[in-house]
Amino acid sequence: MTRVNTVLGTISASELGFVAIHEHIGYGMPGCELDSKWWKTPEQRYEETVPKLRQFHENTKPWGAATFVEATGICNGRDIDYYKSLSDKTGVHIVASTGFVGGDTALPFFERASVEYLTDHFIHEIEVGIGGTGAKAGIIKVGVSRGFKMKELDLRIYRAAARASRITGAPIFTHLAVDSAPALNIFAEERLPCHRVLFGHADDGVSQGLINEKALLDAGARIGFDTFGYDLELPDPPFWGRHRQERLHHFLRFLRSGLTKQVLASADANCSPLGWPGVKGHTVNYLFEQLIPDLHAEGIDDSVIDQLFVHNAAEFLTLTPISHH
Ligand SMILES: [Zn+2]
Repeated sequence: MTRVNTVLGTISASELGFVAIHEHIGYGMPGCELDSKWWKTPEQRYEETVPKLRQFHENTKPWGAATFVEATGICNGRDIDYYKSLSDKTGVHIVASTGFVGGDTALPFFERASVEYLTDHFIHEIEVGIGGTGAKAGIIKVGVSRGFKMKELDLRIYRAAARASRITGAPIFTHLAVDSAPALNIFAEERLPCHRVLFGHADDGVSQGLINEKALLDAGARIGFDTFGYDLELPDPPFWGRHRQERLHHFLRFLRSGLTKQVLASADANCSPLGWPGVKGHTVNYLFEQLIPDLHAEGIDDSVIDQLFVHNAAEFLTLTPISHH
């Protein structure tokens, strides 16, 4: 059986239905939970989150099931018991991450951890479970620290992720697709095929001109158009926003040049942001309210939509071990 780890258990990839590949229940910088200005009661968090997940479940009805991949790393507000309760309440499958959004969001405790230590930690969270929750991580998050340049700790995390991916078969998600040469070197050195890696945020407004798309495509990597909806047309757009049509046409260039199997799409929205106000009006449901209608209007048919959100995602999330412990 193909296996995918969700917070409520391991399921078959055929049960995932429509997959939003890179989303957040709540993302925040480490320490935000200590700032009373941003405290949210459990009731507030449920109130902000449950209707969005219920709507997501409703929107995915034609696909038979809904899967929400929670791409928040270890130190950025990950809360597994909360995800379990949300999944149970709404019927949405939730896939949780091990790993870190980047070296600069790893708490000092992990700063000097060796590659071996980090590898073991990631493997434990994927194969045994996260803390005492009983839930297993389904993906490994890594990322480029601020400044758009890989730092030493980023590199250590990437190498540990590559080793953990080979053993557990969990896919790797990168925060940012910039400065990819050191990443591609590590994956080559560790003999991890790059189709197990999704280079994320290749579509955001601040990375344009800084991403070597050709190198990523030649290596066989997957490319994430996963910040759909952070449009400059919003009343209060974030600094990484981009004009809606520009992003759409960037994506269409990939779809029209036969690269549909190498791309994945998502909205990177927060149901209930932690320690920041979030981006008003942006939710995972943008995929149904705006993106899919935009793609249809451009003549993209349903088989391509299914390829992107069902088949590519299922193949990528399927645990595919390459080597043994
Ligand atoms: Zn994200």
